[in-house]
Amino acid sequence: MFKGFTRFLHNPGEQLKSLLNSPVEASEALSPRIIPRSEHPVSRQQISDAALKVLYRLNSAGFGAFLVGGCIRDALLGKMPKDFDVATNATPEQVRDLFRNSRMIGRRFRIVHVRFGREVIEVTTFRGKPQDEHGDHIAQQSDAGLLLRDNVWGNIEEDALRRDFTVNALYYNIADFTIHDFANGARDIKSRTLRLIGDPATRYREDPVRMLRAVRFAAKLDFTIDPATEAPMFDLAPLLLQIPPARLFDEVLKLFMSGHGLITFRLLSHYNLFGMLFPEAEEAMADAAWAEELIELALTNTDKRIAEDRPVTPAFLLAAFLWAPVAHRQAELEREGMPAIPALQTAAQEVVSRQLEHTSIPKRFGMPMREIWELQTRLPMRRGKRAFQTREHPRFRAAYDLLLLREQAGELPRGLGDWWTAFQQGDEHEQRRLLQKVGSDPASQGDRRRKKRRKPRKTDP
Ligand code: ATP
Ligand code: MG
Repeated sequence: MFKGFTRFLHNPGEQLKSLLNSPVEASEALSPRIIPRSEHPVSRQQISDAALKVLYRLNSAGFGAFLVGGCIRDALLGKMPKDFDVATNATPEQVRDLFRNSRMIGRRFRIVHVRFGREVIEVTTFRGKPQDEHGDHIAQQSDAGLLLRDNVWGNIEEDALRRDFTVNALYYNIADFTIHDFANGARDIKSRTLRLIGDPATRYREDPVRMLRAVRFAAKLDFTIDPATEAPMFDLAPLLLQIPPARLFDEVLKLFMSGHGLITFRLLSHYNLFGMLFPEAEEAMADAAWAEELIELALTNTDKRIAEDRPVTPAFLLAAFLWAPVAHRQAELEREGMPAIPALQTAAQEVVSRQLEHTSIPKRFGMPMREIWELQTRLPMRRGKRAFQTREHPRFRAAYDLLLLREQAGELPRGLGDWWTAFQQGDEHEQRRLLQKVGSDPASQGDRRRKKRRKPRKTDP
């Protein structure tokens, strides 16, 4: 299937040969190499009908229409593209006028979404260099300047050089099915190299999120980050602290919910990036070995579920990421005399509000996350009807999973997890027996014993 493409890479034309051999900076490669259809494997069968419709309609209206970014990169790697980004020289208004089913979104970065049922095709207009001859003029304007600056239209070459990695700057032309390669992206796909276009430190300063994208693509595609692209990351990692929490949360989802979470986590830690997203989790990992183990186990679980096409929720992962700081603070508050559940709630409140300065956590994940934490305090309390009530909680399953991981990570001795496993599997008779065991085993009474011990401590200085 990829013979043509490979042949192209192995037997490049003379012009290409000289390009490959000379140390031309990607940013200096002005005219593209054009890879004819016969020499690359991207076929229209890999492109969704919706994307084809958008491309053809733009094209027949006289505009240039290209697929660009992840879909072409993934198609060249033999993966099925999951979403399609279209780039064109039509302005957003022109695009909107061509498609009834379209909507212009974003102000700072205007793009058009064309909707076909559940599929959305993102159409962007070629952008020019941020600092071109208009730069000075626009920089003098405050808010409006910013808005204009990101919506300076350009040609396809300029658009290519504004993209992040060489492998993300390959354009598939619907007019003749060629691929236009402005930055040696085809070569980097072949050698599985992630390389920023232009000067890496400058590109990270322009947009620090590119550091997270480097790690995400390296993990997902099993690519090596080129040494020059890698080098500035260690020092520039703190620039992420300036990124709005909402944008970072979007990135967190992509980083950890795409099936390669464990390796992503290890790479993020390696480049000092994890601590920029979850500083308190990072601190807790330095304090207790189980904290890191817990995160690794949760990510292993999530990756496995994704591989098996089972549902995953960010609430569970977030609960695992932030559990160590919450547990640490809860223990502190309990030592000061606060009962276990209020201590947990207060600790959760404090840790979450500090976390929100780094990444937002939408309510739909934040609420279940807190419930999973609260259940950690309830799981040991099994007397009377409590075990049955806890068992019925909508978050019981996730909380039980977290409990198992805490035991596995070495935070807790094994035992409680097994008890709950048996309780869920047992019939009525077995459940009664298990509850009796709780009643007679002083070590598993949890709540009662703690309450008694707490009282004298209240008077402690
Ligand atoms: P995937 O969709 O598989 O995560 P992608 O490469 O398509 O990967 P998107 O976030 O969909 O990533 O972005 C589409 C394209 O837009 C990218 O391939 C890249 O060319 C460009 N792009 C996205 N984010 C940036 C950025 N921060 N800086 C420069 N270019 C970017
Ligand atoms: Mg994409």
